[in-house]
Amino acid sequence: MRTPIIAGNWKMNNTAKEGAALVEALKPLVKDAACDVVVCVPAIDIPAVAQAVQGSNIRLGAQNVHFAQKGAFTGEISADMLLEYGVQYVIIGHSERRQYFGETDETVNKRVLRALEAGLLPIVCVGETLSERETGKTEAVLLKSLTEGLKDVQSPEKLIIAYEPVWAIGTGKTATAEQANETIGYIRSVLAKLFSPAIAQTIRIQYGGSMNAGNCKQLMSMPEIDGGLIGGASLKPMDFSAIVHFDK
Ligand code: PEP
Repeated sequence: MRTPIIAGNWKMNNTAKEGAALVEALKPLVKDAACDVVVCVPAIDIPAVAQAVQGSNIRLGAQNVHFAQKGAFTGEISADMLLEYGVQYVIIGHSERRQYFGETDETVNKRVLRALEAGLLPIVCVGETLSERETGKTEAVLLKSLTEGLKDVQSPEKLIIAYEPVWAIGTGKTATAEQANETIGYIRSVLAKLFSPAIAQTIRIQYGGSMNAGNCKQLMSMPEIDGGLIGGASLKPMDFSAIVHFDK
């Protein structure tokens, strides 16, 4: 049995003060959640949010991590910097990082390896664009991203994969539950080949792309879908809490 994991991706929203207030509002709403609850916050919000989540069941995540331990990488954040504040999860290879900041499967791989080495749990994002889906390239794109992005991973059971069709992120368009389930099933078959069928059964695979209070139940009822990576809806406590309680 895989424990579902619902993670919020705040992206570049919420100052530290606003982030701490959001967590304070969220704490009583999600305290009896049956799934893992994570908020992935802007780096500068981490100290304030780390304090706010103390004593709660909300876990802290970051939105990126650099692949070097330290050094001349202006503007970057290291794994040790995250760990010092109790960060446990880190999103790696989000499509917005790939689209706007030159992230590639190769740099994703370097970041995944560093995160695992440091003891962070990576949430590795993969997904196809609309034109890739429409031209029948979805599986080829996912195969490449997974094969290259997860190369040399020695502890695959620590991975979380987020299947995020790029065309569904922030657009209000959601993959149907059947589409998401089928594609996540394909991802699991790739993980079985890269690692082993038994390990693939233990790896949690989230769906991400306009998941909200209205569609979460149907998506989460699918056998292959183990959670959600939530953008817009994670900024509103009631909406995020409704997703966390998808089983109610
Ligand atoms: C995301 O940013 O990972 C995401 C899925 O965003 P949204 O829920 O807003 O589509």
